[in-house]
Amino acid sequence: MKTIRVTILSLCLLFATGSFAFHLTFSSKKVAAEKQLVEIEKCTQREKFVLVIHGGAGHKEYKLKERAAFIKDLLAHCKRVLHDGETSLEVVHFAIKEMEDSGIFNAGKGSIKNKDGVVEMDASIMDGKNMRAGAVASVSIKIKNPITAAKLILETSDNVMFVGENAEKYVKRIGSFDVDINPKDRSGHSDTANPHGTVGCIALDRCGNLAAGTSTGGFGRKIPGRVGDSPIIGAGTYANDRVAVSCTGHGEYFIRWAVAHDVAALYSYKNLTIADAAKQALDKIEPHGGTGGIIALDSAGNIATPFNTKGMIRGSVSNTSEPRAAIY
Ligand code: ASP
Repeated sequence: MKTIRVTILSLCLLFATGSFAFHLTFSSKKVAAEKQLVEIEKCTQREKFVLVIHGGAGHKEYKLKERAAFIKDLLAHCKRVLHDGETSLEVVHFAIKEMEDSGIFNAGKGSIKNKDGVVEMDASIMDGKNMRAGAVASVSIKIKNPITAAKLILETSDNVMFVGENAEKYVKRIGSFDVDINPKDRSGHSDTANPHGTVGCIALDRCGNLAAGTSTGGFGRKIPGRVGDSPIIGAGTYANDRVAVSCTGHGEYFIRWAVAHDVAALYSYKNLTIADAAKQALDKIEPHGGTGGIIALDSAGNIATPFNTKGMIRGSVSNTSEPRAAIY
């Protein structure tokens, strides 16, 4: 009797271990297959593609020439990859990651410090094709690229936003994705230089899909824990099948007026041009003291870049135009 019981128990254990192992193998195969699918998904159906970048609105004359030159080079590269069929989501992520790594913008490596002398970064990304979105807020320098963490959340989670240490833990758990969480070179961080320079990117790919993303260190000497509009979907970032929007400026106004979504709503419900929709959304916050700028793009490839500050570092490129950068 005892022998029979032990045999049944062993069989059960064997089955459970086997099915667990099978589940693990299957899951990792599935992830690998999905990753491969993402990698080989290319857009070449149409001729038209457009990409717009901003490097923050404001009036501080900080490394303006260097930033404009950097943007032009980046745009030239983005033009090549969009031409080759890269998706808008991938290119938006790539462009923002490059700006985070440059150290000359207030995002990623160049992020400004808060009142406690600590860096707290916010970022978000949205895929207009399927309305998926990912965001992180108040993450520390353990996350080298907040935009990559945001994209990771978009790709792997049914949740949209993770904050602080728990965002860092979530990213760490998804070990199969390449997110550098232990950066060595953090020399770009400062609490005096670079007070403006949030970065954002929007793109239309050759499938006709739109995507948007934004990344920032927030305001210099901000109160620890303060989160701006950049990681908030609908405030600092928004994309659907008709428009893509990234904002920069005094985040509290962009949050309260849900500016990024307002551009999309004005465009769709009022049938405005993208230029009028973006201008009207910005005009709503101005009388209340809201300053900043918007980059917006529609699915026909029309661009709008209004700002109510002295300048906004920005640039664009398309299948028919060469990289252009402007400040004022
Ligand atoms: N919007 C950002 C924030 O409020 C800052 C900026 O764009 O300059 O955190």
